[in-house]
Amino acid sequence: MGLELPYFTEEHRMLREMVSEFAANEIVPVAAELDHTGEFPATLVQQMAELDLMGVPIPEEYGGAGMDTVAYALVVHELAIADASVAITLAAHTSLGTMPILLFGSEEQKRKYLPLLAKGEILGALGLTEPGAGSDAGATQTRAELKGDRYIINGQKSFITNGGTAGVMAFTARLYENGEDRGITVFLTDTDTPGLRTGKPEKKMGWRASDTRAIYFEDMELTADNLLGVPGQGFRQVIQALAGGRISVGALALGTADGAYRLARSYAHEREAFGQTIDRFQAIQFMLSDIATSLTAASHLVYHAAWLKDQGRSAAKEAAMAKLFASEVAMRSTSDAIQIYGGYGYIREYNVERYFRDAKILEIGEGTSEIQRIIIAREIMKEAERV
Ligand SMILES: Cc1cc2nc3c(=O)[nH]c(=O)nc-3n(C[C@H](O)[C@H](O)[C@H](O)COP(=O)(O)OP(=O)(O)OC[C@H]3O[C@@H](n4cnc5c(N)ncnc54)[C@H](O)[C@@H]3O)c2cc1C
Repeated sequence: MGLELPYFTEEHRMLREMVSEFAANEIVPVAAELDHTGEFPATLVQQMAELDLMGVPIPEEYGGAGMDTVAYALVVHELAIADASVAITLAAHTSLGTMPILLFGSEEQKRKYLPLLAKGEILGALGLTEPGAGSDAGATQTRAELKGDRYIINGQKSFITNGGTAGVMAFTARLYENGEDRGITVFLTDTDTPGLRTGKPEKKMGWRASDTRAIYFEDMELTADNLLGVPGQGFRQVIQALAGGRISVGALALGTADGAYRLARSYAHEREAFGQTIDRFQAIQFMLSDIATSLTAASHLVYHAAWLKDQGRSAAKEAAMAKLFASEVAMRSTSDAIQIYGGYGYIREYNVERYFRDAKILEIGEGTSEIQRIIIAREIMKEAERV
């Protein structure tokens, strides 16, 4: 909607304009085809790297653009207006693949990987989910057994975004030393390490051009250099990384709702029934009003959470609220957008149904809506204890 919020500076506006132009010129013409074929948008990733978009919130000293979370959210929002698959490819790379290295990596790991990631020379991914450990991420079954100076990794990860295209991946495993459980630990590995095998791309309802796969670890050998952060502290580390990632999923939801809204508004202004354009009917106007209102409310939540993070303030509750609300807004708005299109909305050629299919995952990935409500409730309970 091109909304103006107090968090936006002139630099943010210029960035938004640049990304919006790129999305309109390069992504929009190919988005429907990518969705149809499920082909990974490698050329667009390359173009985004050339525009310095693959490391927006990564400090300049590590090769990033050195911008803030508000800027990053704006980029994801604008990309998702055109295509959610492209937006999630960049968002998973940044929030899940790159941020954990910035947050928990040793100086050596940061110097080795961050410039490659931030310049888009390689993609990043995070392997957390397993067949038996999704919302219950602590139920990780992947094992890392210390034998001599080697960690032998065995296990499986499910639904990993950029799983087949990433050059480096952080993942969780339960660490065993002398048979003793030392707790969940994050490892960082090059994806060409022997013993790491990627599954076939999943056939998905939406986000069809993004790469989602299972990853298998079969006696993969790593060393202490592959430990990311503190052994046994992996669960806490991942929770911290996901809290930041939720802001970008919120931004992705804004873009998904926004894209469908723009299509529906234009269509309603052209389509005629009963001798007038359908946007003359109050029923259609009210649907557009509801989308615009909820989109504005969601934008306030998402950019406020981003701004809080940029101020170095706690944003766990606000990020969960932003992700929860914006994803539910995306689901409702994209459904209403199809309603405004009538029967044509159900037909692929008209493009609006892609937004509806892309919206559903937003209520599931990086913590389902139920899990967001649990996180928010926990924070509210803590506040209640303090008063
Ligand atoms: C396209 C796609 C991309 C993804 N990308 C990644 C990725 O890059 N990296 C990664 O690690 N994972 C990724 N995921 C996995 C995703 O994060 C999980 O699917 C999600 O967290 C839910 O886990 P689950 O599928 O095991 O569902 P489950 O945890 O089995 O949940 C099933 C249902 O039970 C509910 N539920 C579970 N626990 C509770 C509870 N305590 N209270 C109330 N309700 C509950 C859930 O909300 C849900 O409705 C991706 C998934 C998809 C589909």
